Amino acid sequence: MTGTESEATIEARRQMEICNACRYCEGYCAVFPAMTLRREFTTGDLTHLANLCHSCKGCYHACQYAPPHPFGINVPETFATIRAESYAEYAWPQGMGRAFERNGTLVSLAAFLSVTLVLLLTMALQDPAILYTAQTGTGAFFRVIPYWLMVGMASLSFGYALFAMGMGAVRYWRGTAPGAGQKPITAGPVAEAAVDILTLRNLGGGGHGCNDLDDSFAQARRHLHHAMFYGFMMCFAATSVGAFYHHFMGWKSPHAFLSLPVQLGTWGGVLLCIGTAGLLWVKTVTDPGPVAKRLLGGEYAMLALLFLISSTGLLLLAIRHTGAMGVMLAIHLGLVLAFFLVMPYSKMVHGVYRGLALLRNAQEKHK
Ligand code: SF4
Ligand code: SF4
Repeated sequence: MTGTESEATIEARRQMEICNACRYCEGYCAVFPAMTLRREFTTGDLTHLANLCHSCKGCYHACQYAPPHPFGINVPETFATIRAESYAEYAWPQGMGRAFERNGTLVSLAAFLSVTLVLLLTMALQDPAILYTAQTGTGAFFRVIPYWLMVGMASLSFGYALFAMGMGAVRYWRGTAPGAGQKPITAGPVAEAAVDILTLRNLGGGGHGCNDLDDSFAQARRHLHHAMFYGFMMCFAATSVGAFYHHFMGWKSPHAFLSLPVQLGTWGGVLLCIGTAGLLWVKTVTDPGPVAKRLLGGEYAMLALLFLISSTGLLLLAIRHTGAMGVMLAIHLGLVLAFFLVMPYSKMVHGVYRGLALLRNAQEKHK
């Protein structure tokens, strides 16, 4: 750090001043048109531009000033570092920003401890034999893990995650306000940002795709992100429908394979498995030049955690009538608990900040 600004922020300002004179990459993504609206770059501007960057790497592979050129322009790597710094700076509560420093270790430890906790609680509250005895019929899951414990853990951890991420979002929105201050949020920019988020337009690299692996163009990362995002939303919908059935219809899980919650969960789980496994593969084989290496541990750990959640969910479906269901249910719920607990202090916050950056970008265009 130099003064109140990080080295990455100072470096990003240097690079943006060169890019603002060059403007070769204007058609690649939302970052460069947003850059041209500014003559000077405050810390908030650079944080906003960094979160607007979707790390498609197009500008790195197109740039005549990229390393080994003495200008050393590497926008994706520099912006990735600033994004990570913004996650830590705007985390709530403030002290938890340190959790981003060794994020891979934190996510792995949380997963291990949460699975252990759920297994121990199950054995303490129920006859331990229930963990390896086949349970069938209505309410089978709740004979392994009591309903109050399942709902209590999920509600508290998910509620905390939503609150902490909401507070982080407010802090980010205020902290990155442009010089003119906040504008009222209106329907037009909200709709435009929503379309950008749902289509991941900025991973399209101006139409021909990202530089996923090297300087060739591909849409793989965009499609894998879609699989992960929509798979996650379908799993969430499956849980919500299951809760509705339980509370309002009196229908208790496990439900039939062709029921709505099981179908949503099954296909959502398959998409989530494909998306997370594919993104892990992309990270492994991609050109390391435009990648911020020190952030990789946390990114690998969160993708691996999501993969484990979706794959144990699918395994649970496959073996739910056998004696292995109890242990698999405890492992699956332990992993879900870990996910909610670390969500506000993990790569998952990029969705919130990137969404807000897209909203601000849409507001600037609607001036
Ligand atoms: S990344 Fe390179 S080519 Fe693209 S605008 Fe900046 S200086 Fe120009
Ligand atoms: S990496 Fe892609 S999204 Fe990020 S600034 Fe460069 S072209 Fe834009």
